[in-house]
Amino acid sequence: MDEVLAPDAKQAINAARTFRDAHITPFADGIELRRETAISTLRLASQYGLLGLQVATTHGGGGLSAVATARVYEEIAEGCLPHAFSLEVHNNIASLVSRHATRAQQDRWLPRLLSGDAVAAFCLTEPSVGSDAAAIQCAADHSENDWVLNGEKAWVTNAAGADLFAVWAQTDVAAGWRGIAAFLVEREAKGLTVTDPYQLMGGHAMGTAGILLRDCRVRADGLISPPGEAFKVAMQGITSARIFVSAQCCGILKAGLERAISYASERKAFGRPVGSFQGLQWELVNVATQREAARLLAYRAAAAADKNLSATVEAAQAKKLQPPQRLAAW
Ligand SMILES: Cc1cc2nc3c(=O)[nH]c(=O)nc-3n(C[C@H](O)[C@H](O)[C@H](O)COP(=O)(O)OP(=O)(O)OC[C@H]3O[C@@H](n4cnc5c(N)ncnc54)[C@H](O)[C@@H]3O)c2cc1C
Repeated sequence: MDEVLAPDAKQAINAARTFRDAHITPFADGIELRRETAISTLRLASQYGLLGLQVATTHGGGGLSAVATARVYEEIAEGCLPHAFSLEVHNNIASLVSRHATRAQQDRWLPRLLSGDAVAAFCLTEPSVGSDAAAIQCAADHSENDWVLNGEKAWVTNAAGADLFAVWAQTDVAAGWRGIAAFLVEREAKGLTVTDPYQLMGGHAMGTAGILLRDCRVRADGLISPPGEAFKVAMQGITSARIFVSAQCCGILKAGLERAISYASERKAFGRPVGSFQGLQWELVNVATQREAARLLAYRAAAAADKNLSATVEAAQAKKLQPPQRLAAW
């Protein structure tokens, strides 16, 4: 597939491999064992041109297609999926600022997001609201020139070290999803508190934590997407995220498969490498075949997004085809 990609896409994919081999693969196991976050590694990605992958080149970004961006994340996830996911969330917010923010917001945040000086997080989910995102309860009340945010956000990737939070909140409960707006909130904003990082079964590099908003004042110019638009913007972001997570799963699965094949040739039973038994060969072949099928679904969805088609179904199908649990080792 890479052969047909544009030169800038090939360059980004090579940069992703170099970045992964230098800064991720050798350290990923230790970071997980120590339950550390990977925010400092995320900042380093700017040196490889990996921050703002889909931000327009006129804004200083990579201007890459969804297909090329998915390939970058697939390569990085081969070293560590949580690192790739952390990078993806940051880049999605950079794209959001590039596409939807005011000129003043872009001037303020894009240089910092692209240089890694500021790390970003996406705050939609709440402790009691996940899949049904239109039902969020975090409230945004207009007060003179400010907005006042009150509520809680949960499962915020990058929260442990993020400098900028894109927060979705309800301005008018009666309006349902049409009342939801999105705001840019700085970490230092009064009334914003980041909880301790979650203690998870794995994936601590993502620095996932909760956010508490208590009378958190955001100036009127912190509104990044108004009521009526913000929910649609969030859903588009989730569709992109589904495509990119699918590609990441294919990356980590490649690494898992290679490790399994290598071990099967070392491990001996009954005087032979276990990989020489047909029963095990069938299992490995099944995984390799499922991975190819998953890749086709992921890149079909990315190609649909690049044609500005609604990729909602394609993205959901790609993410639904989960890699075999036995090899998704994170
Ligand atoms: C590692 C990780 C990182 C995350 N990062 C972020 C982030 O950065 N920002 C953010 O905002 N959120 C983030 N999330 C939250 C994620 O988007 C939510 O977990 C997701 O929206 C599901 O919500 P929930 O966990 O509350 O599940 P629920 O909505 O409670 O759903 C639980 C289960 O109920 C069933 N169900 C629910 N609705 C339906 C339906 N309509 N049809 C059929 N079955 C249904 C399904 O089996 C579903 O799995 C993250 C989550 C994880 C695990």
